[in-house]
Amino acid sequence: MSTLAIHGGQPVRTVLIPYGKQWIDEEDIAAVVNVLRSDWLTTGPKVNEFEQNIAATVGTKYAVAVSNGTAALHSAMFALDIGPGDEVIVPAMTFAATANCVVFKGGIPVFADVDDQSLLIDPNDVERKITSRTKAIIAVDFAGHPCDYTRLSEIAEDHHLPLVADGCHALGAMYNGQPVGSIGDLTTFSFHPVKHITTGEGGMVTTDNEAYEKRLRLFRNHGITTDLHQRESTGSWYYEMVDLGYNYRLTDIQCALGISQLKKLPQWIKKRNCIASFYDDSLKSNHSVTPLSRSSNVIHAYHLYVIKLLLDKLTIGRNEIYSALRAEGIGTNVHYIPVHLHPYYQKKFHTHDGLCPHAEMAYQQILSLPIFPRMTDNDTTEVMNAVSKVIGAFSV
Ligand SMILES: *Cc1c(COP(=O)(O)O)cnc(C)c1O
Repeated sequence: MSTLAIHGGQPVRTVLIPYGKQWIDEEDIAAVVNVLRSDWLTTGPKVNEFEQNIAATVGTKYAVAVSNGTAALHSAMFALDIGPGDEVIVPAMTFAATANCVVFKGGIPVFADVDDQSLLIDPNDVERKITSRTKAIIAVDFAGHPCDYTRLSEIAEDHHLPLVADGCHALGAMYNGQPVGSIGDLTTFSFHPVKHITTGEGGMVTTDNEAYEKRLRLFRNHGITTDLHQRESTGSWYYEMVDLGYNYRLTDIQCALGISQLKKLPQWIKKRNCIASFYDDSLKSNHSVTPLSRSSNVIHAYHLYVIKLLLDKLTIGRNEIYSALRAEGIGTNVHYIPVHLHPYYQKKFHTHDGLCPHAEMAYQQILSLPIFPRMTDNDTTEVMNAVSKVIGAFSV
């Protein structure tokens, strides 16, 4: 076997491949330039068009564009009127923003553990953590695999709780034939460059509920009841601020990019699935790593391709594997540090090690391998070659 790059050998690749990356083409650039030459840079026609296209893609009545995925989560918490002392159940294995949005409103995030095979929120633990103060549940379609929405919806209904889907990993995913975006009472998306489609920074909330939609629009515009368009059409200067909102608007420049990017979503989901099945096949013979489990009733959006290291079959830990892969030219990442282990949550909410054992155990084992539509066959082959080279060198 060839010498590892960390030991001075030849790396598999000379240029580092990242774990995720956007794909911008000439059509995208032309769409943005057209807006720059138009009269509307923000709060114009491209915002409505992007909202309608996302609503049509996920099958909801409404979609409200906001400035990023975190703003989308914050807006969803406002729509639900989460306030001081309210508890909201969130998974431990997610990006911090999923929990932070509850804190923005003065609420208390209550961490539910995840299933150890899929790393999706465990409905049984959700049910265990419901109290008289619980006001909502936020589920995360981790890595792009939809959650167990059958069970989660039952629990939400039984306890009269709204179900929010943080779908930031799952634009284009389906659960029992239903698109993510139309399953929860509210669903949030992000258009950060590592996500499925990008607007640079951007976000969206989708819902079928008209009252929520009205509150989302209020919140993204300072809590002001009319927008510039409505005022212009009525010829009126008057407006009222009826609640405390933010400037969470998305520009027409960004929405034009989003409209153009969204056209490629179906082919990009296919490409992500192709890469994933190539990885699945290549890793079958590797007894020291395993991909996350996957159900047959979903279309996976594969935002991430996460492997779990079987640590009892390896002589080193995750951090060393990460460094060895990086030396081979393969960029990987850890999604995620369980949110309740961050110092902020330990200090402010007295969370601690042992609260969500599956998430904590998985955290020691996980690595996200490169997966994005622009990868070539050569790229994916090199990723698998580097994985088998590194894992092979450290397997017992
Ligand atoms: C990306 C992401 C967010 C935040 O989105 P931003 O656009 O970066 O603010 C929230 N939740 C999850 C699960 C994410 O992956």
